[in-house]
Amino acid sequence: MFSGGLDSTAMLVQLLGETRDELRVHHIRMVNREARAQAEHSAVERIVAWCRERYRPFRYSESAVDFSALEAIPIDYLSIAFVACQVAIDTPRCDRIAVAALARDTDIENRSARQRRVFDTLYECYRARKLGEPEVQWIYPVYHSTKRELAATLPRELVELTWSCRRPVREAEQWRPCGACKACLARQGI
Ligand SMILES: [Zn+2]
Repeated sequence: MFSGGLDSTAMLVQLLGETRDELRVHHIRMVNREARAQAEHSAVERIVAWCRERYRPFRYSESAVDFSALEAIPIDYLSIAFVACQVAIDTPRCDRIAVAALARDTDIENRSARQRRVFDTLYECYRARKLGEPEVQWIYPVYHSTKRELAATLPRELVELTWSCRRPVREAEQWRPCGACKACLARQGI
């Protein structure tokens, strides 16, 4: 699962460089009142092109969830669990889902456990129709790293293509990170 942020970009580079696994990279356009989908999407397009050219070929796909008419901002990890299930079923021989959660992320153990519970429940419905592999494992390839360590594993050019801000500011034809949201603060100094 690929957001276009620093963590998932480092995860992608690790999987491309250190494994021979056949990858399907999937991005979800999360459309909501934060209005970050467009900025994120242009980062994703550039990163995918960059990585395909320099590492090895991989399959890429995307889908969208549009909650822009809702007042509240839905929980991302639930949308990710839902989409990951559809993508796993749609991918022949898929037996692992990689997410770029970090041990230092807020309340990550509980959030990941809940995310897998949502996934497992959905996946069971497909298994009841005899679809999908018997077991799908969630893996966390960059879990024990800090953001600083992850940034250090990437070429600088690629770090600069990543997008983290949740509340981008529109400036002429460009997006600028707000510098104040949780995601901006987490990558301060990188
Ligand atoms: Zn921000």
